[in-house]
Amino acid sequence: MTGDQVRDSFLQFFRERGHTVVPSAPLLPENDPSLLFVNAGMVPFKQVFLGKDTRPYVRAVDSQKCLRISGKHNDLEQVGRDTYHHTFFEMLGNWSFGDYYKREAITWAWELLTKVWKLPKDKLYATVHTTDDEAAELWPQVTDLPRERVLRFDAENFWEMAETGPCGPCSEIHIDIGPEACDRRHDATHVCAVNAGCARYIELWNLVFIQYNRDEHGTLSDLPAKHVDTGMGFERVASVLQGVRSNYEIDILRGIIAAVERLSGKRYRADEKHDVSMQVITDHSRAVTFLIADGVLPSNEGRGYVLRRLLRRAARHGKLLGLDKPFLWEMVGAVVQAMGRAYPEIAKQHERIADVVRAEEERFVTTLDRGLALLAGEVERARTAGSRTLPGQVAFRLYDTHGFPLDLTEDIVRGEGLEVDREGFDREMEAQRTRARGAQGFADAGGAPEAIVSSGLATRFVGDRIVEWDSEVLALLADGKETRGPVATGTAVDVVTAETPFYAESGGQVGDRGWLETDAGARVEVADTHKLAPTVIAHRGTVREGAIAVGDRVHRRIDGERRDAARLNHSATHLLHAALRHRLGEHVKQAGSLVTPDRLRFDFHHHQPVGTEALAEIEDEVNGYIRANAEVQTEELSYADAIKAGALAFFGEKYGDRVTVIRMGDFSTELCGGTHVRRTGDIGVLKIRSEGGVAAGVRRVEAASGEGALELIRQREEVLRNVSTLLRGPAEEAAGKLERLLGQQRELEKRIAELQGKLAGGASRDVLADARRVDGITVLATRVEGLDDKGLRDMADRLRDRMKSGVVVLGAAEGERALLLAAVTRDLTDRYHAGKIIAHLAPLVGGKGGGRPDFAQAGGKDPSRLDEALAAAYDFLGAGSN
Ligand code: ATP
Ligand code: MG
Repeated sequence: MTGDQVRDSFLQFFRERGHTVVPSAPLLPENDPSLLFVNAGMVPFKQVFLGKDTRPYVRAVDSQKCLRISGKHNDLEQVGRDTYHHTFFEMLGNWSFGDYYKREAITWAWELLTKVWKLPKDKLYATVHTTDDEAAELWPQVTDLPRERVLRFDAENFWEMAETGPCGPCSEIHIDIGPEACDRRHDATHVCAVNAGCARYIELWNLVFIQYNRDEHGTLSDLPAKHVDTGMGFERVASVLQGVRSNYEIDILRGIIAAVERLSGKRYRADEKHDVSMQVITDHSRAVTFLIADGVLPSNEGRGYVLRRLLRRAARHGKLLGLDKPFLWEMVGAVVQAMGRAYPEIAKQHERIADVVRAEEERFVTTLDRGLALLAGEVERARTAGSRTLPGQVAFRLYDTHGFPLDLTEDIVRGEGLEVDREGFDREMEAQRTRARGAQGFADAGGAPEAIVSSGLATRFVGDRIVEWDSEVLALLADGKETRGPVATGTAVDVVTAETPFYAESGGQVGDRGWLETDAGARVEVADTHKLAPTVIAHRGTVREGAIAVGDRVHRRIDGERRDAARLNHSATHLLHAALRHRLGEHVKQAGSLVTPDRLRFDFHHHQPVGTEALAEIEDEVNGYIRANAEVQTEELSYADAIKAGALAFFGEKYGDRVTVIRMGDFSTELCGGTHVRRTGDIGVLKIRSEGGVAAGVRRVEAASGEGALELIRQREEVLRNVSTLLRGPAEEAAGKLERLLGQQRELEKRIAELQGKLAGGASRDVLADARRVDGITVLATRVEGLDDKGLRDMADRLRDRMKSGVVVLGAAEGERALLLAAVTRDLTDRYHAGKIIAHLAPLVGGKGGGRPDFAQAGGKDPSRLDEALAAAYDFLGAGSN
């Protein structure tokens, strides 16, 4: 069964039993401040359990997106290191809201697992709460699970979603997937058992009997009704059904791993260290894709910071695989490919998600190297000092200047056998908060020293049209700390001056870049200009020559070209805003914007997609305004007068008494402090790149103007040209040709599938002639050609059916891979164990593997030794060593 089929068959089973199929809720819980993310299927139904909300049904079934990376359920440390914990995963669940209870829940769970899915009954265990006699009695009564495999536990069998909320006793179903799966063999004190924490006994399904609410004081009270809340790990059950040993090998995740293999040029299962990195990247790519699809953007707090942490951790594991350039954005495509059918929200937003990931990666990639180098030095130093702790200050410096989240540093040093001094880190963090207090309004990490903020310093912006200006240095920060200087070459500085022509980032327009030069010849390269406090403008950059000190006179030069390009895009944003309001309605209000030299981005409130046609009209309208070549007038008014004059105010911006109004012809009037063109014609042309949703009720238009617009058009032409070259025909015919090709491909795929079926059918008849009698049973170990994983499985099934009783071992070479498979008919599984046969043979072809008693598979790197391995099968079985 493919993953999609497993999910469908679960939904179908409960639909047939009167359950309404409901779609997954978003990852962000609605109106629930107690939780950052949905961490279990029950979260969206919390209010129903509490009796505060109702649904039009009393039975439901779903597959819910979950994220376990914060709060009570945080699995981050295990992720990538074990085979069955993810940050993001799907939880299959069936629900009773005051309807059926324990009896039905247990009966159906057993029926689905053992009758429909045919899991081996003798490998299953149930657990119940120490006090739950009712459930303990029901198991042997309504199922054929023997009493001795019903175990009692205390804490493990009481489920709660968080410190507060609905909860109750639960009954879990675990499966024993065989001793070779244990991942704690190095631990002498470990004994494999249910709830012993190794990968051999896996918890599949939790049936929770919700009957209490826990309040803030920890007190339990009875709920108005009793409910059933079940949660089954989709990836875990799929791995059991697909007979693979790890969640990462189910079809859905294997596809994503394959993308990591492609990007890194490394093979999965070739090196344990790399496997961890590949698994982390695979896991995090999914979490990141779904988080962004549900409206989270990277930031320094709350949900946004969780996203940032995941991205940075994944980026660092990429480094371990030798991936030096941004690559995660390419993983988004693999996730969409694997899961877009079941979750269309990721398919629809594919491009936007990739853009967000890429921007964040680019931000981090440069500081990652520096941070890693610093960390390597510090680890070395701790080692030589014989210490096993990394000082809190070091972790803080990595966090503060290199953007290393604490858990990233911990993840890295854990691999070196070190721990981070968390208390020390917290102390540094607290100290910084104290320093930053009072610096409200200054959003950037690092905080502005209080002295500067409270000193009453003020910088005057000398105006939009001026690109060079002399002024005096009033204050300096070196590496974020206040100083009077001189500050030497190579240091990161913030330079505050009395006056400046540099535009400081605000209203969505990015800050200016350029150079500061002192009379004595010192030069500072300014990478960004921003506000330290509402009236204090700082030039942020690096001293490139000489030294700079408070009191120096500096001459300033802006990167004029960059400023001019930003100017075009900023004025174009105003025109776009006007055209959107005109076409879509007055409810269209700006929700945010970004203006850089290359492009513009405009977010606005509107409840549905704009549509291709309307978008083209809007683009036409803006270009009409541009061609009108209207004068752009700047006027200073009191805020009240400006609003009276019909000016549009920016979202979330605070205005002083006097405001600047930008007027363009009679089509646009806005309050704005940004830089603008003189006449609309200076913009040249506007080209819209894309339109899409960013959050509920918020749309985003991305566009470019001036030379940027031309560049965009050229890029698109280039894409089309490449496509038509590949299709060997003129661009006009490309779409038709492609459609025909895709049709042909579907046709061919169908034929191949048919042929493979025939091949396997025919072949199974022939090969049976090779069977031998070993120890009184029929054994067939043979090589078959031209079959893939699935073909091999089909063939084994067929052979098993035809033999009635016996053991089949099949081998095939697929490119550079060897495939091995063993199947044992049910009547013989007490004598022969397919998993063990495979575990014995796989090493001969350079692989590893194992599996269930009746069926097991493995892959290996050395197909040249396949025949040898198959011959060994007869010896192994004959020797009775099973
Ligand atoms: P475990 O003890 O294995 O961490 P749990 O007790 O935390 O599981 P529940 O909270 O009962 O699990 O969640 C219901 C089901 O969801 C589990 O039975 C399991 O199959 C699955 N599950 C739980 N956590 C994860 C995870 N991090 N990744 C994948 N599946 C999970
Ligand atoms: Mg858990």
